[in-house]
Amino acid sequence: MNFEFDAQTEEMRETITDFARERLAGPEDFDPGEFRRRWRLVGEQGALGTVVPGEYGGLGQGAVTAAAVMEALGYGCTDTGFVFSLGAHVFACLTPIVEFGTAEQKRQWLPPLCSGEYVAAHAITEPEAGSDALSMRTRAERRGDVYVLNGGKSFTTNSPVADVFVVQAATRPGGGCFGLTSFVVEAGTPGLTVGRHYQKVGLRGSPTADVRFDECRVPASQMLGPEGDGFGVFRTSMAWERTCLFALYLGVMRRVLETSVAYAGERQQFGSAIGGFQAVSHRVVDMALRLEAARLLLYRAAWGLDRGSTDEVMPALAKLAVSEAAVQAGLDAVQIQGGLGILHGQAEAALRDALPARIFSGTNEIQKNNIARALGLGEKARPQAHPSRRGKN
Ligand SMILES: Cc1cc2nc3c(=O)[nH]c(=O)nc-3n(C[C@H](O)[C@H](O)[C@H](O)COP(=O)(O)OP(=O)(O)OC[C@H]3O[C@@H](n4cnc5c(N)ncnc54)[C@H](O)[C@@H]3O)c2cc1C
Repeated sequence: MNFEFDAQTEEMRETITDFARERLAGPEDFDPGEFRRRWRLVGEQGALGTVVPGEYGGLGQGAVTAAAVMEALGYGCTDTGFVFSLGAHVFACLTPIVEFGTAEQKRQWLPPLCSGEYVAAHAITEPEAGSDALSMRTRAERRGDVYVLNGGKSFTTNSPVADVFVVQAATRPGGGCFGLTSFVVEAGTPGLTVGRHYQKVGLRGSPTADVRFDECRVPASQMLGPEGDGFGVFRTSMAWERTCLFALYLGVMRRVLETSVAYAGERQQFGSAIGGFQAVSHRVVDMALRLEAARLLLYRAAWGLDRGSTDEVMPALAKLAVSEAAVQAGLDAVQIQGGLGILHGQAEAALRDALPARIFSGTNEIQKNNIARALGLGEKARPQAHPSRRGKN
């Protein structure tokens, strides 16, 4: 076992932390121009292409390094919504293209997605199909050399600014986990429309909206992976997302812990710093304990991904631990600051930004269902991988 990053990852962590601090500060609410400007900076810095092979414009690194980069972004950049958008782009969109794309698709999409020229969005959730994603209604029907997509998606991160969409649609309605297929769809394709971006409680710098497909004709050459293997594509991107994207919250928690320690050391009540009161200092210790425990789980899951592990339990445990620790860290930070914690600022923002983490990438209840099933408990058997990918996912 080795608990240290290699020299290259350590250097990237430091560089990205400084870069995020100095160049990624921005408004908390989504602003399209500002979003694009910073997105290009991140692309130039190389942080969008961490897991993309060098021949397609990336850095060719693995999950541990990608998680370290996300942690550094979350630590250095106080606009957690913007960092979340970066993570959704990399782990739900670029990673599936790297893993499942044809050479032609990789040549077409990966360079502009790494450089910061393009923004990508991943669309699976629908108004009637959230946790029960397999019951989606969006259909993709083959007509000659195109697939015609019809249906509506909701909660699609980055969709208001996206140049490219990774979309899941049913090619065999009622076919369960073999009934879905993934497509790469270019923005501007006739029939694809994006709604107004939502007003969210947290992650406000990340634009989210509904997406509609009405007789949207997508070339069959833009199918991602084999027909019927959309669930395999989805599972792969979720394993990366539940591991590496959530690393951004490790950075946020570290920042919140540091400000909480500083505040507890400075704020005087009853003639001494409040950090001297055990109720306050123990709260800070619990924040540190949850952060370090979640951090170990997350890097353990990333280590597994780098070794080709197809285990879904470690990423689910990492997602659970990090998101619950992040929500509790936000609550603790607010409590430590007393009345000031309720005013607009870093503590309450950390809480608001953490709340969605219990929901996206599969809710924490669904993670627990999946872990219970892996332990031999729960209601239904886990769906099998598509025959073409058995042994890979
Ligand atoms: C900020 C944010 C960004 C998102 N980005 C994207 C994106 O880019 N692309 C995308 O496709 N989706 C995205 N989503 C959607 C997200 O994946 C869904 O919200 C999530 O899967 C839950 O679906 P739902 O909201 O329909 O909740 P529901 O499925 O309706 O669940 C409601 C509640 O019931 C519980 N529940 C449901 N079924 C069970 C069960 N079997 N056992 C126990 N409890 C259960 C859930 O845990 C939850 O507490 C995003 C969501 C958020 C909040």
